[in-house]
Amino acid sequence: MSSNYSRTELGFFLYHQSLASFKWLVHGFSLRYDPQTGQELSLGFNEYQPREVVENNRKKLVQTISGVLAASELIKVSDGDASRTEDEACLVTLQQIHSDLVYSFPSDFPKKFSLSGDGLITDQTGVMLSVQTADCLPVLMVDPEKRVVGAVHAGWRGTLKEIVEKTVAKMQTQFSSKPAHCLAVVGPAIRCCCYEVGEEVVEAFHAKFDYASTLFQSQSMGRKTLDLAAACRYQLLHAGLVADHIFADPPCTSCHTDQFFSHRAERGKTGRMMGIIGLRTKE
Ligand SMILES: [Zn+2]
Repeated sequence: MSSNYSRTELGFFLYHQSLASFKWLVHGFSLRYDPQTGQELSLGFNEYQPREVVENNRKKLVQTISGVLAASELIKVSDGDASRTEDEACLVTLQQIHSDLVYSFPSDFPKKFSLSGDGLITDQTGVMLSVQTADCLPVLMVDPEKRVVGAVHAGWRGTLKEIVEKTVAKMQTQFSSKPAHCLAVVGPAIRCCCYEVGEEVVEAFHAKFDYASTLFQSQSMGRKTLDLAAACRYQLLHAGLVADHIFADPPCTSCHTDQFFSHRAERGKTGRMMGIIGLRTKE
């Protein structure tokens, strides 16, 4: 694993060194196991675990991060989602649908409905934006000048729809962020070593991106694998981020199922990790 990803004191999170100096920021990528209990720590609802198990894991997550966010000033996120407990109140989640839909919190959030989409941005303190993954890219973004954060879920479909670029664009229009000031970190995701894709994916990327040939590797038996993290890097550069501010070399989820959930390696029967980012209420 790249040495830029370190375990937090909490044990079940990785943080990235590039963002560690921002004391007003909380961020992290959850791991598969809670080192204290040895139990799996899925933070996304999935097909093979009872809902209450995931709800309890989220409760634990929120209790843990509440301290660092300044618990007394947490904003209560009331989106009318009956499945959301009071303990999850500061966690902003989406029904992820492999889209290019990006929402600003709280202005884009209706009172009564949960939203479907794959990108979140905010300038509010006391809330955590979150995305759930088990191979897809979790991308966390920060504009340290305007103090704006973003979280993106990007699989091959979202990448094809340029969701990462669209998230940067929304940070610009909504909060006047300058892309050259922004940083982006990609969390654990399936890499080119393991991410075999069909011809339809290869063709779709070639039809859309003139650099597509650099994203695929030829394997034995005519198979092709896709480097989604590299595609993400291209989009961030195209959006105006500078190369030194892009950290897109995460560990491979499929190679390391002892640390991460991998939808591909475990044929769909697995949990979900969470990438989270938020602004503290107090520094
Ligand atoms: Zn791999």
